[in-house]
Amino acid sequence: MIDQILSYNKRFVAEKGYEPFITSGQPDMKLAIVSCMDTRLTKLLPNALGLRNGDAKIIKVAGGTILTPYDSVMRSLLVAIYELDCQEIMIIHHSGCGACHMNADHFLHLMRERGITDEAIQEAEKHVNLNKYLDGFHDTEASVRRTVKAVQQHPLVPKNVVVRGFIIDSHTGELTPID
Ligand SMILES: [Zn+2]
Repeated sequence: MIDQILSYNKRFVAEKGYEPFITSGQPDMKLAIVSCMDTRLTKLLPNALGLRNGDAKIIKVAGGTILTPYDSVMRSLLVAIYELDCQEIMIIHHSGCGACHMNADHFLHLMRERGITDEAIQEAEKHVNLNKYLDGFHDTEASVRRTVKAVQQHPLVPKNVVVRGFIIDSHTGELTPID
């Protein structure tokens, strides 16, 4: 796959395929979005929101959640707010999200099948509670609310930053606000 991508990339650059995407590094819309890495959303999400290249900072992780108040998603949001002057933040979960029904026991089973040893699992447990770390959020609306709250109530987020939560339909791109 990667070799195919590399040869495509040579053609893309040679044929100036980049021209429609040229933009400055400063987001035009002062907007940051936290969403899921699900491949259905790769192009659907920006298109359904009318975003062009360069409009918004889009932070994507499994589930679109914030795990801890100082994880890398939250750090990216702080960069967006302070360095890039983002004034509004959208937290966007989506229908049929794989991270919703994740199950730590199943995860650990898959890891053992791939040769991960009990020692390796114990080593990981020194850093993180795997039962929590590998568990899904189970209730999508509740997870949107929890994530919005985590940003709104973060001690380093200014109170005038607008934070709103949504669920996007993974097929139609329809946004449903979660208040
Ligand atoms: Zn997802």
